Amino acid sequence: MKAIYIHIPFCDHICTYCDFYKMVAKEELKVNYIDYLIKELAMKKEYLADIETIYIGGGTPSSLSLALLEKLFQALVSVISMDDVQEFTFEVNPNDVTFELAILLKQYHINRISLGVQSLNKRKLKMLGRSHDKKSIHQAIQILRTTGLTNINADLIYGIGKERFCVIKKDIRKLMRDKVTHLSTYSLIIEEKTIIGRQLALGKFKPMDEDKEANIYRKLCHYLTKNHFVHYEISNFCHSGYQSKHNLVYWDNLNYIGVGAGASFYIDNIRYTNVMNLQEYFDGIDKQELTYLETTKLTDDERMAEEMILGLRKLEGVKKDTFHTKFGVDIYQQYPFLSDLITRNLLIDDNVFIKVPSDKLYLINEVLVNFI
Ligand code: SF4
Repeated sequence: MKAIYIHIPFCDHICTYCDFYKMVAKEELKVNYIDYLIKELAMKKEYLADIETIYIGGGTPSSLSLALLEKLFQALVSVISMDDVQEFTFEVNPNDVTFELAILLKQYHINRISLGVQSLNKRKLKMLGRSHDKKSIHQAIQILRTTGLTNINADLIYGIGKERFCVIKKDIRKLMRDKVTHLSTYSLIIEEKTIIGRQLALGKFKPMDEDKEANIYRKLCHYLTKNHFVHYEISNFCHSGYQSKHNLVYWDNLNYIGVGAGASFYIDNIRYTNVMNLQEYFDGIDKQELTYLETTKLTDDERMAEEMILGLRKLEGVKKDTFHTKFGVDIYQQYPFLSDLITRNLLIDDNVFIKVPSDKLYLINEVLVNFI
């Protein structure tokens, strides 16, 4: 087990598009949660011997007090050998960044920050229900960089209403000037139970047309690669050498552990999701028997399909030899339709990898649907 994900389901306020497991909570509940999280870590100690990447996400981990964060970090360093950890990511809301927080993160070996930027555009930030502005984003990056936290990802969302590529381009230019090393760019997905989802149902929100969205995506890829960002996963771009090691564990379809309410993990062909209810989560830990929202044992066919669906998200694609070693079957024997997709230029076989051509990534769903 090389990777661990830790879920902090607390936010200071709720964004209009958010479908993650999160809540606004009082300090007492947060204190309780961290105690239980530490107990869950102890229950999973057997999996923590070889951890190389840690990712603390949410929710908003930076919404925890410094004292609670320190308690969590102390527990982590007591069960994980930090000498072996290559990448330790912490998700941060720009408004929460202070020198005190940055120093604490540095002290406990965090070496990668994922900043929930989404946009620097005032109107867009308001539509998304974000509480920060472009000034606080700039200040947050300056504080992090001054403290030595220079490996910074910025999350960006595009595809909102009638927005044009020039809005996103302006944001990216500012973030490049601030020297972020990684950009995760996602089109707005409207989920039913979100504020935007309800506005959509009432006819108060108009989603972006799919063709327009694909057009923005193509321009985004072109602009970032022209500006020396490595496009390594369908939605992710970075400076050379700054690929997210933790997220590559997911896309390489490898095992990983997860702790916290709502956290997912993958062990020995079983996908688990911890229960998304704090009282049930606490009760399970008290009984030393975790409560799951779901557990799914994957069949061989499902494992192979996941290998393809996740692997083809990467620009390098799926390595044919790795597929054969993992599943004991030739990739073409398992998926004879690959030849047809190659003939239609939706896939390339470069002898080592099967991949989606970079100029056809916007059509990836046409490829992935074949594995479902
Ligand atoms: S998008 Fe992030 S900050 Fe906003 S509500 Fe969701 S988890 Fe919280």
